[in-house]
Amino acid sequence: MKKVTLFKGDGIGPEICDQVVRIINTLNLPLEFEPFEVGAAEYERHGALIPAAAFESIERNKVILKAPITTPIGKGFRSCNVQLREKYDLYANIRPAKSLPNVKTPFANVDMVIFRENTEDLYVGVEKQIDENTVHATKIITRRCSERIIRSAFEYAKEHHRQRVSCVHKANILKLSDGLFLKVFNEIKEEFPDVEANSYIVDNVCMQMVMHPEKFDVLVMPNLYGDITSDLASGLIGGLGLLPSANLGDEYAMFEAVHGSAPDIAGKNLANPTALLLSACMMLDYLGYHDEGEKVRAAINRVLIQGDVLTQDLGGSASTSEFTDAILQALQNA
Ligand code: NAD
Repeated sequence: MKKVTLFKGDGIGPEICDQVVRIINTLNLPLEFEPFEVGAAEYERHGALIPAAAFESIERNKVILKAPITTPIGKGFRSCNVQLREKYDLYANIRPAKSLPNVKTPFANVDMVIFRENTEDLYVGVEKQIDENTVHATKIITRRCSERIIRSAFEYAKEHHRQRVSCVHKANILKLSDGLFLKVFNEIKEEFPDVEANSYIVDNVCMQMVMHPEKFDVLVMPNLYGDITSDLASGLIGGLGLLPSANLGDEYAMFEAVHGSAPDIAGKNLANPTALLLSACMMLDYLGYHDEGEKVRAAINRVLIQGDVLTQDLGGSASTSEFTDAILQALQNA
């Protein structure tokens, strides 16, 4: 029996987590979840964001399905997500944004995959108070971390028969740091002559992603640009409730929705569980259960196409659990 560490998270986390587990459990796979309370609420209760037993579980199981965790803004503890990505060297954050059937947005035919470097850049969290009115933040870009994320993006493109990999940077201003990222990109692209390669300055790519989203394929970029452009990409396909992600390293893997803990709708049974469910499908692919992942994706699509049981973010009035019931029904009828 393969065990997966499950983090129920904060805000809408426990609600969407319970529904996703309901769906995955009906697949009758040799998979068992080890659930843990983690995050800001756990910190308030027991003084630790992630209890020691949860770390032990991760180190045994090596695979985590994680709901979002609240991070205080401008004060308090360091992001739990950033800590996990660093501790387990989850360097490749992969975020596929694909138009879903019958989800109305002004954009059609979006099918892009963002590769966000996950371990360095401004997220190393090194800030220094120079004087009362001056703060410096350190942006770190290394050849080693740039090489491994860029190579992952090209290998993914090759394996999934994607046409193009685009590098996103700000090397016109950050000539040394983003300059190094772009230089490494231009070296590695030579190893993949069958994949087209091009590059965009980050501000330009934001405009082009909105004007012509259909022309983007695989994109690779440093941490901060990946964080921002992937929320933009979620807007192209109908919102944060729909965008999944995988955080992969050489030994560990963590799957989570791109969205946060959504405190504005928490505890109301209103959240859309699709992003976490699609993240669980990425986990099934990773564990070798691709057919089962595809079954769940097909069930989600059927519910979207039918269009009568949708959560509020998709223009409907169904609750999280009613939407999940409809997906379960679609799975049974498949
Ligand atoms: P958010 O993603 O939580 O919410 C942004 C907006 O999207 C809100 O209006 C919310 O209601 C909506 N939304 C998000 N997920 C939804 C879903 N599944 N269904 C329907 N609507 C959904 O972003 P925020 O409000 O900026 O952040 C809230 C907290 O989450 C912060 O503490 C932040 O640090 C944290 N956060 C955590 C993660 C993570 O754990 N990976 C990621 C991003 C933000």
